[in-house]
Amino acid sequence: MSCNKHNIDTDGRLVVLGGGESGAGAAVLGKVKGMDVFLSDMGSIPQKYKDLLESYGIPYEEGEHSEEKIINASVVVKSPGIPPTAPMVKKVSQKGIPVLSEIEFAAGFTDAKMVCITGSNGKTTTTLLTYHILRKAGLDVGLAGNVGKSLALQVACDPHEIYVIELSSFQLENMYQFKANIAVIMNITPDHLDRYDHKMENYVAAKFRILRNQTKEDFFVYWQDDPIIREQIRHVQSEALKLPFGVEKEEDSAAFVEDGIIHFATPGDVWEIPRDKLALSGLHNLYNSMAAGLSASVLKIKKENIREALEDFEAVEHRLEYVATVDGVRYVNDSKATNVNSTWYALESMTTPTILILGGKDKGNDYSEIEPLVKEKVRAIVCMGKDNTKLLEFFSGKVDKIADTHSLQDAISACREFAQEGDTVLLSPCCASFDLFKSYEDRGCQFKDAVKAL
Ligand code: ADP
Repeated sequence: MSCNKHNIDTDGRLVVLGGGESGAGAAVLGKVKGMDVFLSDMGSIPQKYKDLLESYGIPYEEGEHSEEKIINASVVVKSPGIPPTAPMVKKVSQKGIPVLSEIEFAAGFTDAKMVCITGSNGKTTTTLLTYHILRKAGLDVGLAGNVGKSLALQVACDPHEIYVIELSSFQLENMYQFKANIAVIMNITPDHLDRYDHKMENYVAAKFRILRNQTKEDFFVYWQDDPIIREQIRHVQSEALKLPFGVEKEEDSAAFVEDGIIHFATPGDVWEIPRDKLALSGLHNLYNSMAAGLSASVLKIKKENIREALEDFEAVEHRLEYVATVDGVRYVNDSKATNVNSTWYALESMTTPTILILGGKDKGNDYSEIEPLVKEKVRAIVCMGKDNTKLLEFFSGKVDKIADTHSLQDAISACREFAQEGDTVLLSPCCASFDLFKSYEDRGCQFKDAVKAL
């Protein structure tokens, strides 16, 4: 039997690989729809997801993938963290078993509207901002994807009429029939290239999967000045109405700035808001606010409501988050800046001399992109990582002072030594956190705790 949009056989066997937020949610949805469900995780499954699976009577295993329990699936849902090259995923694919992402699977069982946000940077901020606008306007909206709760779990237990979904390129990889009513691409800069054979075109193609299946009733919101997006648009067939945004007014701009006023124009709606009224500051947040404003506008939310929500949104943790001022020095936590481009925007928004904490797990970074801003604004660089060789080689001689540290405490001490009254200490590391920390959240929280203890 297939009583769903994507023809998933609900009499069949669903095997879920990965027991995190998305995997556990997909398992519950499969079970609720009457499928024979099994979940397998090579690592350990967090207790809260074990409890969830047990409460639905869903069998699971951890620490291994038992081939005989997996290879008899009629459909597999794979957690985005598992690469397509993982041996069990390869085996499943070779057998011709469809491998779906949790979002693709969940979308088969709902007719809700989907507002989907992807890009290299700005996804979480734009997703939360869009969600904030829609919720404040009284819509029945759910938050899903990389941020928020599993889409599948919501479809199973707490369905909404509309979802705002943050989509990573990893999630987009296993999406086929899914359709975004509003697709947003914030920007595309090199990131995660280790997962894409170090080929930028593979990463770009994954991001552009967000436009698949869109029709002329749908919308495509994107940053007009991104050279990669511009180039790719020329090669992609999409009937969706394009809504580009940027600072300069261009012929087809749907949002732009003129004399400090942001103008929005969507079908049947024209409105504006002074730029200095936005709750979020910095050029990157102007873009994020424009993308969220356009999405809300095409959903026919009243402009007064959109304006109000853009004005009262509270900043997101670990993204240019003000921590404290100690001895006249401001400390800012931008731990989520895990690639060079996001650090570029963080530096761009700095208005004082800056002590910049860089370092961690380098994903093939090219630091020349931030070199001009470093020369203009950075008084000292504090490298904080297990191995800082690449950073030291690149930045030595380009800043007055540079420190080589291997722990947060030592990094903070170096910052204290370098910083003068009126400076900003900015943790915006360009790198992933896994060498010294559990996650970027862990890095940001430890940084905040250390600063507050000064
Ligand atoms: P993502 O979810 O895509 O990683 P976030 O909203 O979490 O994006 O922001 C991550 C970092 O990227 C922030 O610390 C900020 O410095 C930077 N950033 C945010 N929005 C943008 C944007 N539109 N363009 C470039 N960089 C951005």
